[in-house]
Amino acid sequence: MIALSLRAASDGTAPFVTRLTRQPGNNPALSHFLAVTEAGSLWSGEQGVFELGMGPDDLFDDVVLVDPFGSRADRLIRKASSHNTLLVTEQCDQLCVMCSQPPKKTHVDRFDLLERACLLADHGITIGISGGEPTLHRARLFSMLESVLSARPDLNFHILSNAQHFTAEDALRLRSPFYRNVVWGVPVYAASGSLHDAIVGKIGAFEKLMESFVHLFRAGARIELRTVLTTSTVDSLDALANFIVYNLAHIEQWSVMGLENIGFAKSGWADLHFDLRCNFDVVGNALDRVKLHGVRPKLFNIPLCHVPAAYRSYAVASISDWKQRFSDKCVPCVARSDCSGFFAWHPSELVNEVYPL
Ligand code: SF4
Repeated sequence: MIALSLRAASDGTAPFVTRLTRQPGNNPALSHFLAVTEAGSLWSGEQGVFELGMGPDDLFDDVVLVDPFGSRADRLIRKASSHNTLLVTEQCDQLCVMCSQPPKKTHVDRFDLLERACLLADHGITIGISGGEPTLHRARLFSMLESVLSARPDLNFHILSNAQHFTAEDALRLRSPFYRNVVWGVPVYAASGSLHDAIVGKIGAFEKLMESFVHLFRAGARIELRTVLTTSTVDSLDALANFIVYNLAHIEQWSVMGLENIGFAKSGWADLHFDLRCNFDVVGNALDRVKLHGVRPKLFNIPLCHVPAAYRSYAVASISDWKQRFSDKCVPCVARSDCSGFFAWHPSELVNEVYPL
């Protein structure tokens, strides 16, 4: 797996963000390479000399957050990756049965540092924002987005949100042209409040979600709906497809996603996991239904060879590079570059059940 966190040593007096470069320059936001060390590499910047626990070759042009007190550096934006996501909080007001990153009670505000990182990003990239639930801190979030996008209108953001907190006032703010560069990825698991609420572990969540959609649609917000496939969501997927067509047709995309075997989903795997190879029809019918009504469906996190040929064009190589895994049996497959593969922590016996194309 690609390391996102590195051991770091720095005499800096506070956490700082910097972009790692080959040569010295005049920009104080940059740090340049000095030498290879036993532990990794030595760099010099405005905050002094610091060491990172990785050689320089994979780090050039990465944007890193160095924490001198935690002796750690986070590779916030990696040059070579199209999967850069900033975690803005670990707090959440839902407790989804399949949550891949169970929430924490405390919040560490890093918005100023993350804003600096965005300003150092390469031209034109899309930066993911996730949590926890980012809109629990939406005043800070909106300020960060607007500040970054006023300076860097070339950037785009994709923000995962449970859409429990948008208000009528937010709708006015989200009408700003800045938000044409923002897509909101919003989970919806069922067409009924009782099932959706049970899955997200919050009574009234579905109703709140529908209220938020009103505000988001009023704002002209760009929305991607997300539905994770589990034994319970699959059963009602066709009803959900129908609901989307008739009530949420203004979305940009409906992403139907394979389950990630980590967090709560790991402990509940036996009850939650739905093997698409046994019955794809229910998923296929739902995809057909929304497609027929002009909604764009996509399949995320599902290996191409687990999808019938007629539906493979919907499948996206969606798993982030740092947690993507393939079977040894995938070596001869001609579709590998277009394939999602598996999560690094997917059960090994399932990873080996592949059918090279
Ligand atoms: S054989 Fe491997 S690379 Fe090919 S489609 Fe299946 S999982 Fe993907």
